[in-house]
Amino acid sequence: MDTAEIRRRFLAHFEAAGHAVVDSASTLANDPNLLFVNAGMVPFKPYFLGQETPPFDRATSVQKCIRTPDIEDVGKTTRHATFFEMCGNFSFGDYFKAGAIELAWSLVTNPVDEGGYGLDKDRLYPSVLVGDDEAIELWMKVTGLPRERIVQLGPKENYWSMGVPGPGGPCSEILFDRGPDFGPDFDATTLGPDMPVDLEDRLLEIWNLVFMQDDLSAVRSKSDFDIAGSLPKKNIDTGMGLDRVALLLQGKKNVYEIDLLYPVIARAEQLSGKTYGVDREDDVRFCVVADHVRSSMMLIGDGVTPGNDGRGYVLRRLLRRAVRSMRLLGCEDRVLPELMPISRDVMGPVYGNLVTDWERIAQVAYAEEDAFRKTLQAGTQIFDQAADEVKRTGGATLSSERAFALHDTYGFPIDLTLEMAAEQGLTVDEQGFRGLMAEQRERAKADARAKKGSHGDTVVYRGILDEHGPTEWLAYETLETESR
Ligand code: ATP
Ligand code: MG
Ligand code: MG
Ligand code: MG
Repeated sequence: MDTAEIRRRFLAHFEAAGHAVVDSASTLANDPNLLFVNAGMVPFKPYFLGQETPPFDRATSVQKCIRTPDIEDVGKTTRHATFFEMCGNFSFGDYFKAGAIELAWSLVTNPVDEGGYGLDKDRLYPSVLVGDDEAIELWMKVTGLPRERIVQLGPKENYWSMGVPGPGGPCSEILFDRGPDFGPDFDATTLGPDMPVDLEDRLLEIWNLVFMQDDLSAVRSKSDFDIAGSLPKKNIDTGMGLDRVALLLQGKKNVYEIDLLYPVIARAEQLSGKTYGVDREDDVRFCVVADHVRSSMMLIGDGVTPGNDGRGYVLRRLLRRAVRSMRLLGCEDRVLPELMPISRDVMGPVYGNLVTDWERIAQVAYAEEDAFRKTLQAGTQIFDQAADEVKRTGGATLSSERAFALHDTYGFPIDLTLEMAAEQGLTVDEQGFRGLMAEQRERAKADARAKKGSHGDTVVYRGILDEHGPTEWLAYETLETESR
């Protein structure tokens, strides 16, 4: 089943059950705590918080999401993309646990010729929050599965909150067992409270149902919070990963092989002369290319331009990682003009702005590739010399001074230096590097104070911005909640 059909069936299923179909919002969150929309509920937050009255009791959407905290997992797990689409259904004080479980289960297991996804019930495992007996009973009733098939996970996995006092609640997930090729055998009755990491690609999480019922008075961490009482209105917020269901229904090994991403890998194979599926490290690069080309295109489509902090830096990093992964696959030429139009052709039918706004999108992406090629040209030799010297002298760490010089003179952001060092089996004195950056910032501030009022000001501020970029971006990252 192609993703267009999976998407269509999702919306049709919930529309038939009385949900208003709502278009995806932009990936750019209108929220001071979030750089990007990272879940389907984000655009509905004011309704859940009771700040605004929703014009409907039930809604459904397929929301564009960006999760930069998952960037290092791309290609390494089988299931993480930096851009993906989250199919969701939402109840604002309308149906609750029973309704959410029934609606999700019927879509997932109804036969394909009856509008469902036809997933094999014998391979599905619901998970609940440890001790959520009500949810266990409901799952047993709705699915006919025995109690032993229902996995109980701790609050780290299965309790959702926004990290601040306000609404919260237990989650229930639908997991699909992909079999022994993807992880070790397991016993559902003894799983938990944490999900073993080596099982996460085998027991694939496809859908998360949040039962928003509690009023939290304190949230100290994901698994440490105080429940003050019940919310006056109980809500439902769910998220099903379109790409993950597609990988199951298309019989693929990972999300990068589905119809929305594989065409870019195929083009990258042609350009590099290498074949996907032969070498593990190359495969990770192919996946990074397919994923990052798409996510950067979607971000530019939503109005982001490359920059040194915040969203702009995320975009810059995605574009640069795509270009560098192609280099590591052996492509020295410009690659984005070859790859991005392929991604546009697969995503364009759903996101028409990619087609109508293409000239601008392409121009932004290609200009960034050109600038990056110049940076690499200037700095790669210096980096290689430094790396050789470290190895020759029997060391394993690139000094903070080297990393700083690469940044200061050649414009290498620290994560580029970190990645290039890791490829050579080296680490970087990152803490020392941050110290040098802080010193330079102090110097710039002192200079600015000394020159106050003179024309030097703007130059100095520009310098501060340049230096500050990567550090600030890391701070933003910590504000994004990775999972719930
Ligand atoms: P995981 O544990 O696999 O990282 P998660 O618990 O972080 O997933 P949720 O925050 O519960 O995911 O998001 C709801 C759904 O969105 C998930 O069940 C999954 O299907 C999908 N999803 C989450 N992260 C990604 C991603 N990086 N790429 C593709 N789909 C994702
Ligand atoms: Mg999870
Ligand atoms: Mg996650
Ligand atoms: Mg989850």
